[in-house]
Amino acid sequence: MAKAKKAYVCIECGAHSVKWAGQCPDCSAWNTLEATTFSTPVASSRPEISTHRLDELPDDVEQRYATAFGEFDRVLGGGLVPGAVVLLGGDPGVGKSTLLQQVSAGLMKDLPVCYATGEESLRQIGQRSLRLGLDAAAMNLLADTSIENVLEQASRCKAKVLVIDSIQTMTSEHLPSAPGSVAQLRESVGRIVQFAKQQDVSVFVIGHVTKEGAIAGPRVVEHMVDTVLYFESDPASRYTLIRSVKNRFGASGEMGVFAMTQNGFREVSNPSAIFLSRDSVNEPGSVVSVAWEGSRSLLVEIQALVADGNSNYPKRLAHGVDQNRLALLLAVLQRHGDLAVADEDVFVNVVGGLRIAETAVDLPTLLAIASSFRDRACPERLVCFGEIGLAGEIRPVRFGTERIAAAAKQGFTQAIVPVGNVPKRAPEGLNVIGVRRLSEALDAAW
Ligand SMILES: [Zn+2]
Repeated sequence: MAKAKKAYVCIECGAHSVKWAGQCPDCSAWNTLEATTFSTPVASSRPEISTHRLDELPDDVEQRYATAFGEFDRVLGGGLVPGAVVLLGGDPGVGKSTLLQQVSAGLMKDLPVCYATGEESLRQIGQRSLRLGLDAAAMNLLADTSIENVLEQASRCKAKVLVIDSIQTMTSEHLPSAPGSVAQLRESVGRIVQFAKQQDVSVFVIGHVTKEGAIAGPRVVEHMVDTVLYFESDPASRYTLIRSVKNRFGASGEMGVFAMTQNGFREVSNPSAIFLSRDSVNEPGSVVSVAWEGSRSLLVEIQALVADGNSNYPKRLAHGVDQNRLALLLAVLQRHGDLAVADEDVFVNVVGGLRIAETAVDLPTLLAIASSFRDRACPERLVCFGEIGLAGEIRPVRFGTERIAAAAKQGFTQAIVPVGNVPKRAPEGLNVIGVRRLSEALDAAW
C-alpha cells in the first residue's frame, strides 16, 4: 500500500501547499487551508481492462443527447456527451436543483434517469416536480449521502444519466473525514468519474459555491471533471446566465441565458438585447456596447458614476468589469483623454449582472466615465467598442464586423469603433466612425 501523503489544500480554489498558512498563497482567501491526506485507496477487485482498436469503436462516438433546453445544449457544447461528468456550480438558492430537474425530465423521454439527493427529501423533489409541471413519473429517485450507495443504485436501475445533488453532501465510506471536506469531495468525484467512464453514464454534479470556509467549494474538483458550468446572475435581474468555464467537449466561455418564471426556467434563445434598459440609455454616464460572449454578440449597457471624492483615497468600484483594468483605464483617461479623474470616486456597473472579461468594453467604459464626469449624455442610438492601450491608442477587437451588424440589427444609428474594425461596407442606417486614439473617440462622441 502506498504511503499516505499529507498536504494542505485551499477549500476555495483547490491550491496545494506543503505547509499551513493563514492566507492561501494562490487566491489570497483567509483561513481556507485544510489538512488533507492523500492515500491511494486499496482496490478490492480490479475490473477487466483491455485496449481497443480505433476502427473497432462503436459508430456513435459523436453521439450527444439533447436536453430540454437549446440554451443548455449550447453551454454543453452541443448536447450532453454520454459518459461525461458535468459540474454545475452556483450560489445556494440560485436554482441548480430546479434546472437539473427540468433537464432530467427532458432527457427522460429517451433515457433512464436517476436523481440522487443528499439535500432534500423525496417528498420535496416530488413537490417541485408538481410545481414545475414536469412529466417525470418514471424518474428513479434516491435520497442518500453515501456515494457508494448512489453509484450502486444508479448502476442497478441502468441509468444513462445520473444527477447528484449536491457533491458537498456526499461521503465515501472509505474515508473518515467529514462531509464537505476537501478529501471527501475529491474521493466522491473520483468515484463518480470512474463510474461514468466505465459504465458510459453521463453525470451532473451540483456544487454549492460557498462564501465562508466551512465546506469546500466546487473549484477544488474542477480539474477532475469534463465540463464545468457556473450560474452567473444578479439577484435583482430577471435573467440567469450559465457559463461554461471548462469543456472537454466544446468551447469554454459559451453562455446560455434563462429567465426564471413561476414554472421554473425558460430559455431565452435570442438574448442579444435583453440587457438594455430603455430608460437609462440616454442619461449621462451610460453607454451601450456590443460584447462577444461564447459564439454570439450581446448588447450591454455600461454605466459609470463619477462623484467628488472626499478622501485622499478615491474609491474605484467595478461591477461586471475587472477592477484592476478600471484603475489602468482611468490612468489612461487622465493622461491621454485630458480628464482630471484622479481624485474622483468612480463607480462602474454593467447592467443586468453580466460579467464581461473582454477588453472590447474598454472604450465604452471610458466613454461612460467621461459622460458622467462632463454630465453630458452620449448621442442617442450610439454604440461603441474597442480595446485601449496604455499609450491611449484604440486597438481592434475580434468579431468587429459581427458586432457592428448586431448593433445595426437593433436599430443603432452610430458606432464608434477602432479603425481596424471599420467594415468595407457599413450596414444600412448605421454610421460607423473609426478612431485611432482615445482623444479622437471622445471628440467623436460629442
Ligand atoms: Zn485558495
